[in-house]
Amino acid sequence: MGLAPQRYLISAEVTIERAYFDWNATSPLRTEARGAMTAALGLTGNASSVHAEGRAARKLVEDAREKVAELVGAEPKNVTFTSGGTEANALALTPAIEVGGDRRRRDRLFVSAVEHPSVLGGGRFASDAVEKLPVGRDGVLDLEALASRLAVSERPLVSVMLANNETGVIQPIAQIAEIVRAANGVLHVDAVQGAGRIDCDMEELGADLLTLSSHKIGGPQGVGVLVRRGSVHIIEPLIKGGAQERGQRAGTENVAAIAGFGAAAQTALHTRQAEAARMARLRGMLEVGLKAASPAVIIFGENASRLPNTTLFTVPGLKAETAVISFDLNGIAVSSGSACSSGKVQESHVLAAMGVEPALAQGAVRVSLGWETTEEEVERLLIAWNKVASSLLKNRDKRGIAA
Ligand code: PLP
Repeated sequence: MGLAPQRYLISAEVTIERAYFDWNATSPLRTEARGAMTAALGLTGNASSVHAEGRAARKLVEDAREKVAELVGAEPKNVTFTSGGTEANALALTPAIEVGGDRRRRDRLFVSAVEHPSVLGGGRFASDAVEKLPVGRDGVLDLEALASRLAVSERPLVSVMLANNETGVIQPIAQIAEIVRAANGVLHVDAVQGAGRIDCDMEELGADLLTLSSHKIGGPQGVGVLVRRGSVHIIEPLIKGGAQERGQRAGTENVAAIAGFGAAAQTALHTRQAEAARMARLRGMLEVGLKAASPAVIIFGENASRLPNTTLFTVPGLKAETAVISFDLNGIAVSSGSACSSGKVQESHVLAAMGVEPALAQGAVRVSLGWETTEEEVERLLIAWNKVASSLLKNRDKRGIAA
């Protein structure tokens, strides 16, 4: 069972119904994933052992590898399981990449300015070999800047995300891949937020390396993959000390998590289109409702191509931190622009890169939907928004708020 609206105990007498709108942070476990994990937890074997117990565990890992590979149109042997999207990004971002037998090191890393922090960190490149590429006001990578900057490098590695976790803005990866190829480059795509929501076929995208994370598509947390094109190899693994994962990532495989990821990938592949259409309809209803209540609402990246499930919005004068708490007290889980481990809202580097003024950016609230989101939940969010907006903005800019 997934995360149906839960009764949430406030006190012995008071309960409020919860509605979860933070699917870009993590999604509920799909029924199929839970089933696969429960079955796997009943096994004893280490997937590297040769006996029957080990072979049973190995079979679960290899079945899951096939399912994850199918989600992105890759060959199973090119899929490396990791501890999540963050580790897969760190594994990919190294100068030591072999391409078609060429083992010369990549000399420069180019990342879009709106990447997830696990990419912005630059992986194993020296910090002076990492360059950020600008995006336009709509959050889409500046393709002219990409082409002209790649000219300074002989063997670049480029990392651009399929879709942004804060705004949902989708990057034109196929076009980017052409530019990267023409510059003798290798393209890594962080598809953590795009996979399962939009088409994510590695061939069609033209990606050489691709990152996925299980917990964004209905699998468990703590498992992800780096998928390679056949001719591309990471020469220096991030975690050494064992032959697991074809030498690309040492360590005993987390069989139950991997099995859950595989089951979630299989379901996502089959249900993606219907789920995306449903989410797009509900997201449309949400955005119309937000604007009807507060005409001053600004939706970031509104004119770009966006994921069907994500809305990042604000109204002038709003403080995201207080808005998120107010929503929470009304039973609604949303997040500020970018989730942050300390619980404090930091200025969003994504909105800064899009040229949004800090005063406006600090009010950005992210609503992200999923396959279990219902119309009734969206209605409840809109009722809560009416309350939140009128109380938080009472003494500020009242112009945009309906009476
Ligand atoms: N990349 C993007 C775009 C993400 O949104 C996230 C997680 O929020 C990650 C990478 C990291 O994935 P994980 O949580 O599996 O480490």
